[in-house]
Amino acid sequence: MEKSATMDRIIEILKRENDFVIFSHEFPDGDGIGSQLALLHLLEKPGKKVTLINRDQTPEQLRFLPGSDRLVRGPVAVTGSQVVIMIDIPVPERCGFEAGKEYLPRARHSINIDHHISCTEYAEQNWIDPDASSVGEMLFQLFVRGGFHIGRNSATCLYTSIMTDTGNFRYSNTTAETFHVAGELVKLGADPAAISAEIYSNLPHSRYRLLASALNTLTLSDNGAIATIKVTREMMEKTGASPDDTDGIVNYTATIKGVRIGVFLREIDAGKVKASLRSKTAEHNVNLIAAKFGGGGHPTASGCTIQAALEQAEQMIIDKAQQTINTEPKQAPQ
Ligand code: 5GP
Ligand code: MN
Repeated sequence: MEKSATMDRIIEILKRENDFVIFSHEFPDGDGIGSQLALLHLLEKPGKKVTLINRDQTPEQLRFLPGSDRLVRGPVAVTGSQVVIMIDIPVPERCGFEAGKEYLPRARHSINIDHHISCTEYAEQNWIDPDASSVGEMLFQLFVRGGFHIGRNSATCLYTSIMTDTGNFRYSNTTAETFHVAGELVKLGADPAAISAEIYSNLPHSRYRLLASALNTLTLSDNGAIATIKVTREMMEKTGASPDDTDGIVNYTATIKGVRIGVFLREIDAGKVKASLRSKTAEHNVNLIAAKFGGGGHPTASGCTIQAALEQAEQMIIDKAQQTINTEPKQAPQ
């Protein structure tokens, strides 16, 4: 179905229905949570029932967002009178629950709003826009099209979605439309300096203790084309860091001159590793590397979980990264 027709169907459902359950992905981020909360503010105004569910807790730096105390940790039982909305979730199970079996078939309606290139059409309404920087940017367009009121709280949440998913308006997903939407949100009351201070200038000391030991593991391979940083469970324990504290460490890889693919690996337990992948340009498509391990994401930012010991997982990822570099044009993106 055409994009505008899908948007209109979603608007109609938001206006007509009264009971919503809204999910974002496991280890939720600024885009997922900002979008969930923007929908909360939009739908609760006319007195509708809204339940926001995530598998994992809200990262501390996002708890300033208005309404964040309404985020609850699932699972839940979805009933036939509820509309399920999936936010920033390319495959249903990425919400951390058996959504494809437990939630979507039982829901009165199901809506999938996502900007991942790898997103599949798993719901009744699927609005997938890989050109959008974030789901926050998509929701702004939806709210305007539907004639919904965007108050200061919604504007703050949507601005946070866009700011975090564009890495502060730096990544290649940042377009003229992204700046236009961000500008409109500032006019509606979002405060860029205050939001940025909450997210980037209020970090726990443990994050920097972990960062210091993580940077010691930085290794370059393939003639400097691949950079890897690793975090073991022992490092997490010694520094008193939480999984949230690992957020952003990956950015110290692909930002190095000459590096084409950056890899960050975190040991979750003895045989389980979370990998984050970054590349400088879509030419080195890390989404395809993550997909080989059952993960996904975007061409320049992706992730996956590998069932292997840390060193093995590292070798597996580096092998695939090397293949990607070797099979693609050699003009170095500097
Ligand atoms: P990060 O490396 O920051 O965790 O994630 C970067 C991007 O990859 C995000 O867009 C995220 O949605 C996606 N991503 C990270 N981990 C996974 C995963 O295990 N599965 C899928 N499908 N996508 C992931
Ligand atoms: Mn997103």
